[in-house]
Amino acid sequence: MEDCIFCKITKGEIPSRKVYEDDNFYAFEDIAPVTPVHVLVVPKKHVRSIAALTEADTEVAGKMLTAIQKTAEKIGLAEDGYRVVFNTGEKAGQTVHHLHAHILGGKEMAWPGV
Ligand code: 5GP
Ligand code: ZN
Repeated sequence: MEDCIFCKITKGEIPSRKVYEDDNFYAFEDIAPVTPVHVLVVPKKHVRSIAALTEADTEVAGKMLTAIQKTAEKIGLAEDGYRVVFNTGEKAGQTVHHLHAHILGGKEMAWPGV
């Protein structure tokens, strides 16, 4: 997708601090972390959000959880735990319209915290 910042990051056209990559996903540090550890996991295929997923995305959607798990292990959060957030739609706080999971960790987090 033209002008999609996360498509450009997955292609290396915009620099990022990569923490994990496989055939279908790219994970990198958030530029404005809200927790001590804050990493984004994005599919290389452009999909706007969870709300825009179709039947054709079923496989990539399923694999995304595994990519999140592997990323969390790689950044050392597997033992202490972490929170995964998918902001979906502008009212929910989505600002970049390319599906992404926030992996948040490195501190104690209250719940509910919205
Ligand atoms: P959203 O608000 O859409 O759920 O999350 C988008 C996230 O992308 C935000 O946490 C924001 O800090 C991050 N972000 C936006 N632009 C860039 C960028 O150019 N590089 C990196 N690493 N993160 C970005
Ligand atoms: Zn994109």
